[in-house]
Amino acid sequence: MILKIFLTFLFLHGLVLNASSSSSSSEEEDGGSSEKDSGEHHPKGVPHGGHWGYEDQAAWSSEFSHCSGKSQSPIDIDTRRALYDRSLPPITLEGYDLTDSLALTLLNNGHTLQLVLPNTMRITSGFDNEFRAAQLHFHWGTKEVPGSEHTIDNVHFPAEIHIVHYNSKYANLSEAASKSDGLAVLGGFIGIGLHENDNYEKILSALADVSIEESNTEIPAFNVRHLLPNKLERFYRYNGSLTTPPCFQTVNWTMFNDTITVSRRQLAALEDTLKAGQHQHLTKNFRAPQLLHGRHVLASFTDTPTIIVAGHPGISINTLSETDASNSEGPSTGPSEVLARGDILAIAFGALFAVTLLLFTLYAYQQRKKYCSIKKDSRQNVIYKPATKEEA
Ligand SMILES: [Zn+2]
Repeated sequence: MILKIFLTFLFLHGLVLNASSSSSSSEEEDGGSSEKDSGEHHPKGVPHGGHWGYEDQAAWSSEFSHCSGKSQSPIDIDTRRALYDRSLPPITLEGYDLTDSLALTLLNNGHTLQLVLPNTMRITSGFDNEFRAAQLHFHWGTKEVPGSEHTIDNVHFPAEIHIVHYNSKYANLSEAASKSDGLAVLGGFIGIGLHENDNYEKILSALADVSIEESNTEIPAFNVRHLLPNKLERFYRYNGSLTTPPCFQTVNWTMFNDTITVSRRQLAALEDTLKAGQHQHLTKNFRAPQLLHGRHVLASFTDTPTIIVAGHPGISINTLSETDASNSEGPSTGPSEVLARGDILAIAFGALFAVTLLLFTLYAYQQRKKYCSIKKDSRQNVIYKPATKEEA
């Protein structure tokens, strides 16, 4: 019995050590590190005041007060802390399948490469309201510095696409941009693959025509759905902001888990062709990850068996979150889990305390029993002393 309890104790102790070591790695940073440059959401028509650049991100908030708010974007997505929420509705896109009978305006606004989209492109389910598309744009780095804005477990991807939508209850993007439920951005990580991406080429082939800041061109429309990953059902969701001044905290963010790939040549074209100002290359247009300030990141998916959290029917715990990274196709090593590490630690320590208390009680009981029997023996010794004497 004692042995069994002792083994249980050792097991729990090991569990706690494991939990604390993994939590230290997953908790190291809540958000912002500091890189040089940042991203760009320029809702067209939204006043964005004075001059700003990616070199002086720390100074944005002096002119744009929202930039120092507590719900800023981008963020690091810590896949082990993201909460699996089975109640997140899947995203349905309509009107994305444009054809070349329509022309779209592609422009270099000095901060990004932007494609203006018709508001007939819509997200018809996935949110409380319908959202209409306004524009898409990109964030990138250099050959040496990957330029995604969001990071997965602190890792940047080479580039990122954002498709900006506004809530259909508002007249247009500029009216919606400052409303708390105004915007929904669909984001995708762009990586490097072996093959050319024909869909991205429809935009990238026109890069040379917009190399100068403030220039624009027309390109034939195409199926914009093909710029996103195949699996739209695997995504992360959180509340954040525009990633450029004025940093309004009005964006419901969706970051797809699966990566889109373009060829090395295509990515190099994006990195090397555009200019900001007269001589400068338009590169490293990404904002550094921002602090979460207690926000939660939800995940629409999990690769592991789950336990429903009592009282939260939509939220479950992954039971094997670190073991099942193999079948994830996306940027993350695997989806995510739910209960905060702190909660798990608290439970483990509670159990450890209970076991220790039990062991102590048992030990005290054993000692007392032993003491009693010794006492009894010694009394017996005393009583029978004369007898031993007799014997002698
Ligand atoms: Zn953006």
